[in-house]
Amino acid sequence: MSCEEIKILLSGMVDGELETGEKRKVSDHLVSCSACREEYAKLMRLKEVTDDMKYFDLPDRLWAGYWHGIYNRLERGIGWILLSIGAILILVFAAWNFLQGFLLDATIPLYVKVGVSGLILGLIVLLVSIIRERLFSRKHDRYDEVEI
Ligand SMILES: [Zn+2]
Repeated sequence: MSCEEIKILLSGMVDGELETGEKRKVSDHLVSCSACREEYAKLMRLKEVTDDMKYFDLPDRLWAGYWHGIYNRLERGIGWILLSIGAILILVFAAWNFLQGFLLDATIPLYVKVGVSGLILGLIVLLVSIIRERLFSRKHDRYDEVEI
């Protein structure tokens, strides 16, 4: 058999698709011909690489699902942070407008002003925190139901 004929059979050899007779001819040729032996080694390396790629192909979809989940959680987290900041800013602004007259009133002692300001700010933060927690746990339950 010539090298050209062997080279045609080599890919079949690598994939294990040759008949016993052909396999024997190729093996015999490879023993005596270094050029075809090199070609065979090259094809074997290529097969290893493509086999590895096939191996990694399967979990790709699992990875996509995993990253999708992470992204959803991240998106929700950022959404809640922005919502909280926005709500706090609006409420603080409203409270500030209300407090301004009260704070500028020279007849009211400073400790009362600081106390009332802290009270209102604390209530705003608590309110936002409670609303956020309630809404989040409800959304989280719904998410779990969908998953199951
Ligand atoms: Zn050869």
